[in-house]
Amino acid sequence: MRAMNAIDPRNGAAAAHAAFELRRAGPESAPPTPFVFASPHSGRHYPDDMMSAAALDALSIRRSEDAFVDDLIRAATDHGVAVITARYARAYMDLNREPFELDASMFADELPAFARARTARVAAGLGAIARVVSEGQEIYSRKLTFAEARKRIEDAHRPYHLALRGLIAEAQAAHGFAILVDWHSMPAAAAKAASRERPCDIVLGDRYGAACAGVLPARVERELEALGYRVTRNTPYAGGYTTEHYGQPQRRAHALQIEINRGLYLDEATLKPTSGFERLRGDIETLTASLAAADWSALRTN
Ligand SMILES: [Zn+2]
Repeated sequence: MRAMNAIDPRNGAAAAHAAFELRRAGPESAPPTPFVFASPHSGRHYPDDMMSAAALDALSIRRSEDAFVDDLIRAATDHGVAVITARYARAYMDLNREPFELDASMFADELPAFARARTARVAAGLGAIARVVSEGQEIYSRKLTFAEARKRIEDAHRPYHLALRGLIAEAQAAHGFAILVDWHSMPAAAAKAASRERPCDIVLGDRYGAACAGVLPARVERELEALGYRVTRNTPYAGGYTTEHYGQPQRRAHALQIEINRGLYLDEATLKPTSGFERLRGDIETLTASLAAADWSALRTN
């Protein structure tokens, strides 16, 4: 991999596992491209305070990971793209949620009003601290405390989003705008259920056009289709908290969520990469190189 400055955000021995890994492609003051890639759901660190309260075994809980998405996008720094990847597991703290999007029924104590979320995601058991893994199995054998939630937000959510905000600001300062791509993967069953025809390979989510200039998904879709992928937009995933929160084209921040069908690269039962992994990784690098080399300067005036 080409020279880059890797940031190790660990501060001393206190934090055995930092919240994220951040790899810039150039100096903070001069990122070579306006692109920032993020993988919030591929973290593999399950702290003891979570696992000691878990009713499920580790493999069952791990099925909620967007496994290996961090590895799929790792080469992006070679093309001038800053990359941030979560270290904490998605089941510990979901970084693609409002931090206090909590499910009151999971807690032994009463939550403050601002933390009692009634969103569709919480109702589905998938708030900032998930109640269930994808098959609907309950993760915990006991109620949690609000203090535990606060700790997860402080250790995982806050530092990750602070760093992500920083990367977007660096790109904006250097280029006049930033383009965030939030990378995810979806269960093959979800991709299948969403389509009556052939299941889609990749879903692009731009909050139905609100999160970025239309040229961005148009270009990504064209490139992916040229590589042989079946691409859909906004269904079944239109983009989560990150896409909505950071995707503000009028403030020169564009965000696009990319969901990859896990069937392309992962054995979902064993969580081992399949023979498709290398091809997909190569295709993502081809896409990345093309996006990084394109002229996006029109976004500066949008
Ligand atoms: Zn995800």
